[in-house]
Amino acid sequence: SESLTVSELAKKLAKEPSEIIKKLMALGVMATINQELDKETIELIASDYNVEVEEEIIIDVTEFENYENNDKEEDLSVRPPVVTIMGHVDHGKTTLLDSIRNTKVTASEAGGITQHIGAYQIEDKGKKITFLDTPGHAAFTTMRARGAQVTDITILVVAADDGVMPQTVEAINHAKAAEVPIIVAVNKMDKEAANPDRVMQELTEHALIPEDWGGDTIFVNVSAIKGEGIDDLIEMIQLVAEVEELKANPNRSAQGTVIEAQLDKGRGSVATLLVQNGTLNIGDPIVVGNTFGRVRAMVNDLGRRVKVAGPSTPVEITGLNDVPQAGDQFMVFTDEKKARQIGEARSKKQMEAQRKESSKLNLEDLFNQI
Ligand code: GDP
Ligand code: MG
Repeated sequence: SESLTVSELAKKLAKEPSEIIKKLMALGVMATINQELDKETIELIASDYNVEVEEEIIIDVTEFENYENNDKEEDLSVRPPVVTIMGHVDHGKTTLLDSIRNTKVTASEAGGITQHIGAYQIEDKGKKITFLDTPGHAAFTTMRARGAQVTDITILVVAADDGVMPQTVEAINHAKAAEVPIIVAVNKMDKEAANPDRVMQELTEHALIPEDWGGDTIFVNVSAIKGEGIDDLIEMIQLVAEVEELKANPNRSAQGTVIEAQLDKGRGSVATLLVQNGTLNIGDPIVVGNTFGRVRAMVNDLGRRVKVAGPSTPVEITGLNDVPQAGDQFMVFTDEKKARQIGEARSKKQMEAQRKESSKLNLEDLFNQI
């Protein structure tokens, strides 16, 4: 900061406060131990001890927390939608994700696929879609609990032979709370017992009314296992994305959210980031939650090394000093020193909070024992 008290200055110079007060008196300044000294006076005293005053950089941690999308309209361009698949257990979420991925992998990419980074992108008629393949519910609850909103569209998978189940309702509630549009995929249409009308009927009770019945919810009948209806589903995702007018500014430093992260024996901290605005580059100084570093390497969902990652792109990075948590925000800084300072300040803050929390627990334990 710009000023110091007499005692703070004494401490920094490793002198007794009384000695500093004497020096100040000699300069005609009558000061008490708690008196604030201005920059000039500090420099004068310090130079007397042959100490050069280096200005401290004020660490503005709030710059990280208060990230604003202050982009001008003319700087924005269309970005791919980020889609999460939710639904009751065994209704076919994983099978549907695999089916979508497999149908849309181009011949040149085939063979090199199935790198698991927690998210993947497909391209259909020149337009990309990003799918998060972290379990939908976990993605919603942990990420939203951390204040992150990563999903643009939710696909609600309901098995046509089973209908609406408890986790179906839970998924609807998550999507509604997050104000994310829902597309219903009525799955397992290949099954003898498939009854899509019953699914529609049951969902109307949760205010998801099909377009055919005068509502505005899109229903698509699919068989994830046979790959049927997948093209229709993708078309509907593109349609909803267009309506949502999803945009970002690719020409700024990147910001986004951690999808997943872990410690890798060989590579150290490995994190899958979803770029939500801006473009991430190799070498960027970055703060990720309470961790920091420089983007050392980036790998895409096909396992290929990439140098840049634009809006809505999931990418796995290395180069962080520690492992961040899913749902953490990340932000690129132009200055590496600043990224380090902010990262360290945030990690210190978190450690202090944890220490307080654990000492509180210890006290409670103590009282419980009494
Ligand atoms: P999740 O728990 O929602 O991820 O469900 P899974 O994708 O693991 O699927 C659960 C079971 O349903 C598996 O045995 C799948 O093979 C099966 N399954 C998924 N989709 C279909 C489908 O379209 N038709 C049929 N007949 N079975 C399916
Ligand atoms: Mg699954």
